[in-house]
Amino acid sequence: MDRGAAEALDRADPLAAFRDEFDVPGGGALYMDGNSLGRPPAAVIAAVSRAVEEWRTALVGGWASWVDLPEAVGDRLGRLLGAGPGQMLVCDSTTVNLYKLASAVVADRPRRATIITEAGDFPTDRYVLQGIAEATGRRLVLLDPEPDGSSLLASLEAVLDSDTALVCLSHVHYRSARRVDPAAVTAAVHRAGGLVLWDLAHSAGAVPVDLDGWDVDLAVGCTYKYLNAGPGAPGFLYVNRKVQDRLRQPIWGWFGNADQFQMAPDYRPAPGVGSYLTGTPSVVGLQAVAAALEVIERAGVAALWEKSQRLTDLLVRLIDDLLVPIGASLASPPNAGDRGCHVSVAHPLAWPWCRALVERDRVVADFRTPDAIRLGPAPLYTRFVDCYDAVEAMREVFDEGFDTSSGRRRVT
Ligand SMILES: *Cc1c(COP(=O)(O)O)cnc(C)c1O
Repeated sequence: MDRGAAEALDRADPLAAFRDEFDVPGGGALYMDGNSLGRPPAAVIAAVSRAVEEWRTALVGGWASWVDLPEAVGDRLGRLLGAGPGQMLVCDSTTVNLYKLASAVVADRPRRATIITEAGDFPTDRYVLQGIAEATGRRLVLLDPEPDGSSLLASLEAVLDSDTALVCLSHVHYRSARRVDPAAVTAAVHRAGGLVLWDLAHSAGAVPVDLDGWDVDLAVGCTYKYLNAGPGAPGFLYVNRKVQDRLRQPIWGWFGNADQFQMAPDYRPAPGVGSYLTGTPSVVGLQAVAAALEVIERAGVAALWEKSQRLTDLLVRLIDDLLVPIGASLASPPNAGDRGCHVSVAHPLAWPWCRALVERDRVVADFRTPDAIRLGPAPLYTRFVDCYDAVEAMREVFDEGFDTSSGRRRVT
């Protein structure tokens, strides 16, 4: 594998021109962190200025159009994620949406005392579920962190029973990128009489999602990772039409009320997905999401997925060639069909190594405790040659050496 081969892949890349729509400065470190915070598309920068201008000129009158944004942008995102209209909202944060939906399921199943998640899942997801379990006297069952999807399904089936209220899992695991089959997992949970809540934080904008087709009950996710809507842009939630009116989310705000401006004495949930709103939406953030989605729509999810697989395949090959000989190992599924759009490399010195990569202005990647460096190329703007250069820079920095003394504290 040489650099010329990576350049040839870029020349043949049908998405190559999208990089020009992003504000990519020349020189400096290679950005391999699009799965933590996507780069700003020029369209989002323009949309944010337009939103501020609307605020300046329309003032409170702007609400006439702003008030519908969570549902309108939600429907638009839904088209990318296989959700028919009226089932998705862009609102609040992923954490808050997770709390709303998980609480709604638990309240709906008073005679079922078990919530199941994965021990190694993203911290905020586990914390929210711990909090709900403690507040409602439920039992939180943690599945062993499993590297691959089929063993996750097997370990889930071993604990599913008539006591299971809710199963909450990530479609693409934030650390390993392991991807599970949501249709198979959802069907297994339904057979036990439970509901499933999927976290799509590392899926949306990179891998195909088919919420209605998979018969998913509930889902949440972020818009600032592969969707590129900016730091703190609102999250999203999906509530399948079949369960919308039965479930009731716990934050009874005025935006979720049936007639918001009647200011009635008592809360009456709006029909449909509207009852999953809480308070005033982030209008500037929503306009950023709308502009970011327009870029994804033009690229197409199928093309993004195609390139995602080829980017991570290239990383896996380069890791084998350049990093395995220095004691690293692949901490992600080896086959593109079993993973999302990032690749993790495990090494005992991952923390000081990752820090040296940033300090020497070579590669921006994420350290993930205890021992992984996560490389997240983004199919809209990361080139194949960037993957080549990033892994080569990792090897060079390792060979140059770095201070490992401060690293040990973080390597548990
Ligand atoms: C990034 C991420 C989140 C972030 O939640 P916020 O509320 O936006 O901070 C949640 N879950 C997963 C799996 C993530 O990867």
